[in-house]
Amino acid sequence: MNIRAAVLERVDGPLVVGDLELAPPGPEEVLVRLGASGVCRSDYNAVDGTTSTPFPVVLGHEGAGVVEAVGDGVTRVAIGDHVTLSWTPSCGTCPECVRDLPQLCSTIWPVMGAGGLMDETSRLARGGEAVYHYCFLSTFAEACVVPERSCVPIPRDVPFDVAGLVGCAVTTGVGAVWNTAGVRPGDRVAVIGCGGVGLSALMAAVAVGAEPVIAVDAAPGKLQTATELGAASVVQWAGSAEDTAEAIREASGGGVDYAIEATGRGEAMLTAVLATRGRGAAVLIGIPRAETVVPLPALTIPRMERRVLGSIYGSARPERDFPRIIELYRSGRLPLERLVSHRLTLDEVDRAFELMNSGDALRVVLDLNPGAVPGEEDVPS
Ligand SMILES: [Zn+2]
Ligand SMILES: [Zn+2]
Repeated sequence: MNIRAAVLERVDGPLVVGDLELAPPGPEEVLVRLGASGVCRSDYNAVDGTTSTPFPVVLGHEGAGVVEAVGDGVTRVAIGDHVTLSWTPSCGTCPECVRDLPQLCSTIWPVMGAGGLMDETSRLARGGEAVYHYCFLSTFAEACVVPERSCVPIPRDVPFDVAGLVGCAVTTGVGAVWNTAGVRPGDRVAVIGCGGVGLSALMAAVAVGAEPVIAVDAAPGKLQTATELGAASVVQWAGSAEDTAEAIREASGGGVDYAIEATGRGEAMLTAVLATRGRGAAVLIGIPRAETVVPLPALTIPRMERRVLGSIYGSARPERDFPRIIELYRSGRLPLERLVSHRLTLDEVDRAFELMNSGDALRVVLDLNPGAVPGEEDVPS
């Protein structure tokens, strides 16, 4: 079938929206008609070369839609199901999966960079030439073919924009708080960087009863949103890691139990470490450039029993965590709709990246089938 999609031709290259050929789903693959896709920093990492990927490529890894066709052997989903897509279709059998660390699956990570699906071949083409997938998904398109294991069924009343964000930003932030850190009621939490991921972490900390929850950012508008979402106090970036950490320590009564770092900047990572109190942990979510090195005040690590925890994809198991996040959204405990600051069409994808890079946007979402997504109209009322 033919679809419209945004193709990135090369590093720093243009994103060209045009027609592609999408092959039918193979065994254990699923064709999804997309409702919406969030635009993530990790997509831009392919544009500016932070992440290397084969070209030409269709970016996008934060989508949700309706199952339109299934390949042989598919058992997890059926035609008509609404799904959120996971970019870690973990294998379930490798040593990391057996250790209950599907986010570190040693089968999928080496395959992901090849730009195909699980068999390392592409279902996308243009004029007969292969076009590559991104993170097994490629959601800057009207439809995509993905591994069955990327599909997590969701209730039909969840809007596709919110459901799409659960596929990356929300789970990355919420999971860092609930899974990686294991924040408990009364723990002191600071969130550094209040974009879509950071605000998701903040909502998760508020939802479990962390106190206080302190929001840190350079942009006053984002701090205002953080306050509306339950931050007890806010700290504006003070120009250096030391000064910002001191302000967090003051606002928290002597340092936090968990400092969640969502920017990927080295100075913000140092801030996170310096903001912790004894036994506290800096939880590093943001993806830094490969050459980034963070010098730490080593003496304080043993003396204060400080810890540094890494978190990828919120240490999540998507089939377990997407539904519980969505249930708390439906009950109003995680007001995820507040993350969507801009809605654009596929043709406006360049503008989406501009907004993201301006620092003014929370999450920009592309509406991929304006009007109705086929299959959406049979939503029960
Ligand atoms: Zn992402
Ligand atoms: Zn695995």
